Amino acid sequence: MGEAVRVRYAPSPTGDPHVGNIRSALFNWLLARRLGGKFIVRIEDTDQARKMEGSVQVILDSLRWLGIDWDEGPDVGGEFGPYIQSDRVESYSVAANRLVESDNAYYCYCPSERLVMIRESQKKQNRPTGYDGRCRNLSALERAEEVKSNPTPVVRFKMPLTGKTTFNDVIRGDVTWENRLLDDFVLLKSDGYPTYHLASVVDDNAMEISHVLRADEWLPSTPRHVLLYEAFGWNPPIFAHLPLILGSDRSKLSKRHGSVSIMDYKDQGYLPEAMLNFLSLLGWSLDDKTTEMDINTVIENFSLERIGASPAVFDLEKLSWLNGVYLRNLSADVVAEKSFELLDRDLGVDVSRPLDWAYVVKVCSVIQDRARIFSEIPHLASFFFSENYSYPVILIWAGMGDKSIKKLIETSEDPRALSLPEDRDSVSHSLAAASGALSKIDDWNHDTLEATLRNLVQELGTSNRRLFGAMRVVLTGRTEAPPLFSTMEILGQKIFLGRL
Ligand code: GLU
Repeated sequence: MGEAVRVRYAPSPTGDPHVGNIRSALFNWLLARRLGGKFIVRIEDTDQARKMEGSVQVILDSLRWLGIDWDEGPDVGGEFGPYIQSDRVESYSVAANRLVESDNAYYCYCPSERLVMIRESQKKQNRPTGYDGRCRNLSALERAEEVKSNPTPVVRFKMPLTGKTTFNDVIRGDVTWENRLLDDFVLLKSDGYPTYHLASVVDDNAMEISHVLRADEWLPSTPRHVLLYEAFGWNPPIFAHLPLILGSDRSKLSKRHGSVSIMDYKDQGYLPEAMLNFLSLLGWSLDDKTTEMDINTVIENFSLERIGASPAVFDLEKLSWLNGVYLRNLSADVVAEKSFELLDRDLGVDVSRPLDWAYVVKVCSVIQDRARIFSEIPHLASFFFSENYSYPVILIWAGMGDKSIKKLIETSEDPRALSLPEDRDSVSHSLAAASGALSKIDDWNHDTLEATLRNLVQELGTSNRRLFGAMRVVLTGRTEAPPLFSTMEILGQKIFLGRL
């Protein structure tokens, strides 16, 4: 094997790639890009029963969405191809036969009913489950007899019955397994397809893979792989098993913690830049404290030494927050471009104002500071586009800063039925005065609006908080919205006065 760094992402096309899969892809890619090596994508589709139509496409699309490019693999080819295992089946049976010939593997004719039976009885006796080795030492004569009843035997690896297998994992140090705990696992199935173990080792060797970075769940497979390398007389690659990913409640990451399929995040309007930043931190860190960093910074600093062994926590709140950081850094034009379709789709049919590009850009310029993900934008911006919003009148007092009323509204079943406070006449007088003063403005912009309203606060002897808070609710139907004067400027005088 040469000195070159060659790493691979080896997904099985059994469904949409999830966060853990893509984290593995990303870490391999980061290592290749950091060390000037090659990143290879290899499709492991030898489990015919679990193969899912369309899955390869989604896997590749997910990588493309994130900007994880591959030097060799499907679509791009390469000198070690083909990169789809079902196109390489020949090589696995050749390899399996080689192991049979060197007495490191054997044909097993046991019917599946027998295997089920052994398993059941092992379970009953609380013993580790696994093949009992019945066909391990058959003579040529016995084999000739067996093949009559089962012409398509599987090939099993001849596990050493004693001793230990030790390998070094860059992240965990030395890992040791007792060989007696590992059974004679299948290498080649009766359909002629290899198992994951055989195909993975044969291909990693054939493709000159230097480092195998994969999820922690594959750790128990590694002693088997190490023994296979030994039996073949090949040098094993360097192994690094990436830490487990847990949900924020520290249980194994699952649907309960939000989407697990990476493309769902795309559909929900997460930015690939934010997603990459977030995924990079699932097990790796720059310095234990920096959260925000672009992918070039990650590449420049990436090293296996800085990957921890303890589980990483997938915190959806953190991802959304991080996405908000990236969203705020975009120009309003880009935000508008990315939100336009969502606005069109989610604002519904009652849009009283058609989607005008320049207007959408202005709206986005104030909304982007409040949104964390794009899918929130239609809701946050809806009052800019529709007169069909309603709110209980008492919300005006919550907007003016009255905490007890806010609480009352939150706990009330029907806020509209709550009676209005005593000062309602003075509030409506203030709003009418605002309407009067603002209707006289010729020059409708942020600064004139601010000056006029600040004057009015003085005149009325009220406070900014009360007047502006009340106006915010009237204009938007909510107590939290973008800055008032910008909102007014964007809405325009006519719409504004209509609402007031
Ligand atoms: N095909 C395996 C998977 O789906 C690959 C495991 C490995 O990287 O060796 O994750």
